[in-house]
Amino acid sequence: MYASLRILNCRKVQGTALLRSSRNLHVAIVGTGPSGFYTAKYLLDARSDIKIDFFERLPFPYGLVRYGVAPDHPEVKSVTATFEEVCGHTDRVRLFSNVTIGDAALVNKNDVVPLEELKQKYDGVVLAYGASSDHDLRIPGENLKGVLSARSFVNWYNGHPEYKNLHHESFDLSKVKHVVIVGQGNVALDCARILAKSTDELASTDIANHAISALANSAVETVTVIGRRGHVQAAFTIKEVRELTKIDGVKARVFEDELRLGMTPATVKELENNRPKKRITDLIQTIAAETTAFAASPSPDIKRFVDIRFLLNPVSVVPAIDNVNHVGALSVERTKLIGEPHAQKAVKDEEAATKESLQLPCDLLLKSVGYKSEAISASLPMDARHHTVKHEKGQVVNDASLFVVGWLKRGPSGIIGTNIVDAKETVSTMMQSLPAQSKHAATSADPWSLLQQQFPFLVNDAIDWKGVQKLDAREVQVGQAANPPKLREKLLNTEEMLQIARES
Ligand code: NAP
Repeated sequence: MYASLRILNCRKVQGTALLRSSRNLHVAIVGTGPSGFYTAKYLLDARSDIKIDFFERLPFPYGLVRYGVAPDHPEVKSVTATFEEVCGHTDRVRLFSNVTIGDAALVNKNDVVPLEELKQKYDGVVLAYGASSDHDLRIPGENLKGVLSARSFVNWYNGHPEYKNLHHESFDLSKVKHVVIVGQGNVALDCARILAKSTDELASTDIANHAISALANSAVETVTVIGRRGHVQAAFTIKEVRELTKIDGVKARVFEDELRLGMTPATVKELENNRPKKRITDLIQTIAAETTAFAASPSPDIKRFVDIRFLLNPVSVVPAIDNVNHVGALSVERTKLIGEPHAQKAVKDEEAATKESLQLPCDLLLKSVGYKSEAISASLPMDARHHTVKHEKGQVVNDASLFVVGWLKRGPSGIIGTNIVDAKETVSTMMQSLPAQSKHAATSADPWSLLQQQFPFLVNDAIDWKGVQKLDAREVQVGQAANPPKLREKLLNTEEMLQIARES
């Protein structure tokens, strides 16, 4: 009987009021970034009897699309239209933001809904909460003031409520002349670009007001982005490098001797038959030639430099001469590449070390060496090496009703579109594992009502989709009224957001 029910439910049927009875399966998705939304989209398609409740820790949804994507990349954020479509299925999808799922001790909050309770109430739970932490450099001096993760810097300029006070607390751009960014992924280049651009170019984006004010008073002269390996191994993509070459009053520099050092026989092999890598290498070589020409004939129009440096490994953070608690420089060592093509590692270049002792002056040091996921519940089987949840094609090991998707599943890599394939895999696995009938089939109980009875704080705290739409409208309205007008002015204060969401 179950088998026939499942076949019936799996069909995409128009007007299936009959199926949306007490037999509805209830799925909870924890996290409202791209991976969560794509999972919902494909779940809605896969079984017409599935109902979805999203749970989001922050008052406003969309995760990395809102708080990760750079403000000057609005085209990337247009994916929110797809997410709005998903939430537009109001008969099947609900969203509860400002609700934290997990163990109080692990998520650092008192009012929480433990994951176990969610699992008890729902027929399936999908973890899509991404990566909210980052890797350390593990070098001396890392705890000095003025050293922070690129993730927190990105959250700050993107108006993440928990990072709005970062400026002055951790750094003061009016006193920062030299910035060093460790790591050469696209996050590093996003940070470099935002630091390099004039506020005229950023003011009409959805960048947070506090960031525009701080950037307007910025004293930054150089941003140095360092990688421990060579230019061919760098993780950034061509679009982001090219953007750095097109900023008014800013010179992107690359140094020819560092490119030569990176051209090992294994690197030459890596370039063979790799068109994207060849194209980016051509661009980097062009920048290097322009850097040499610029050195011979500098232009007074250049106010800032973005230096992309290769084969440099951070060794220690050096305190400032006038403030031992604050970063003043980053000590680095020259590296060389060893190993097979596509597996080359950076090791200390002993010969160079005798000739070169490098200290890069820096008043702000951003660590951009990858994001890291954390467990929200002690019960989660974490892969300690990759900081992901152990799973089989999206099903958490030894748990038939718990699933995972996105960075928590595969690690912090890929673009927004990568989540499409990823979500499809998890949904396909769910179709094999979810029961044919809901655990609430007999009583027609609504899991959200049950949660509210058990956790009364939810009644006041949770913001639903209608509330989110009010927040969205307010942000756009305030943004349009700004001078100059901007895409939106993000709300930063949870209490204010709760108030707006409740307005009739
Ligand atoms: P990423 O692309 O993985 O880059 C991490 C960088 O850190 C690499 O250069 C890596 O070098 C370096 N690194 C790691 N450990 C290090 C250490 N101990 N010392 C020195 N360097 C170290 O990470 P990400 O920049 O955080 O980006 C995450 C994902 O988001 C990526 O897939 C990225 O493409 C995506 N993203 C895309 C955009 C966009 O499309 N515009 C914007 C932002 C983010 P090694 O290679 O030597 O390990």
